[in-house]
Amino acid sequence: MPLRVVVLPGDGIGPEVTREAVRVLQALAWAGGVDVRVEEHAIGAAAIRAAGTPLPPDTRDACLEADAVLLGAVGDPAFDHLPPSARPEAGLLALRQALGGFANLRPVVSYGALAGIGPLEAARVEGADILVVRELLGGLYFGEPRGLDPSGLAASNTLRYTQPEIARVAHVAFAEARTRRRRVTSVDKANVLETSQLWRAVVTEVAREYPDVRLDHMYIDACALRLMMEPRHFDVILADNLFGDILSDEAAAVGGSLGLLPSATLGGPVALFEPVHGSAPDLAGRDVANPIGAILCVAMLLRHAAGLTREAGDVASAVTGVLADGLRTADLAGPHTGSIGTRAMGLAIERAVVERVEHRRSYHAV
Ligand code: NAD
Repeated sequence: MPLRVVVLPGDGIGPEVTREAVRVLQALAWAGGVDVRVEEHAIGAAAIRAAGTPLPPDTRDACLEADAVLLGAVGDPAFDHLPPSARPEAGLLALRQALGGFANLRPVVSYGALAGIGPLEAARVEGADILVVRELLGGLYFGEPRGLDPSGLAASNTLRYTQPEIARVAHVAFAEARTRRRRVTSVDKANVLETSQLWRAVVTEVAREYPDVRLDHMYIDACALRLMMEPRHFDVILADNLFGDILSDEAAAVGGSLGLLPSATLGGPVALFEPVHGSAPDLAGRDVANPIGAILCVAMLLRHAAGLTREAGDVASAVTGVLADGLRTADLAGPHTGSIGTRAMGLAIERAVVERVEHRRSYHAV
């Protein structure tokens, strides 16, 4: 059975970066014997223009029938005047809900060759390798009742979690930790919030099933500070929807550029993979966007949707190799460093992936 991947290029730089990600996926299919079937559909502003709605039924149905969905980005300033429910972004929110993923995984790595590119100095970030696991379907963003009082002078939201909602995302974090350095930092505000007290109790209970993984608990404010001061302290960070949203953006500073970061949303029937960045209308159509976040989504897809950890490793190692060789897109280039375009970066990573597959094959043939 082929691996069925629905690609949703979306808007802005989305089509440019997904083109490079698909190039790498197809190179693996060709060189590594991975049987992949790729199908493209419209979402976001592209779908509004083509079909009058940001998530057309045929896109939704194709995603629900796929093994994995790879998304570029959505968002177009031409639709900013519309109410939120009619904007391109509404298509992505509806898709996430339809796919039902409750665990959002966001890895952030400091590449040695790039250390110091971002806002943090090299000595602080070098060697950092963090995975933020964020609960995605519960908590403050979905709790009812919510709303603005008719007076317009007060508003409320509800923060509610249930034991199963916490336990299922905690299991994802501990299972991931087992493939890494076996350490989970669970983040909460248990000194103030009852939901955090439940969170802490449930995570502690789940941890008993993973005696080989070390668990520590940290308050959100302390964690936010430590992430900037000592990012190497962390392996897997487990957080609820609100705290995870904030910490995963903060952790991006450790990687150096938004353009480097992939993400995966797991737990539903179909996993969704998307770079962390948006549609970057300022860069669209100029061949300057960094495609690495989208290409690393392919690595996550191979691992999480197909169990192809070796091929996933080939993609991650190709990215590291190309950066170590000094290739840079504009976001990674210093004032005196030359840069290459989106397509050239995709081609370089494609070559590096094929080299790795062929090297492995010749090694085994000897
Ligand atoms: P953005 O991520 O698009 O851009 C933020 C900054 O990062 C910009 O300066 C941009 O040039 C830069 N950047 C982003 N991706 C890059 C890449 N691959 N390479 C190099 N530089 C890159 O966020 P924004 O400007 O707040 O939003 C723009 C649009 O994207 C909005 O319509 C927003 O709603 C949408 N958006 C979509 C998603 C998504 O599809 N998941 C996420 C965030 C924002």
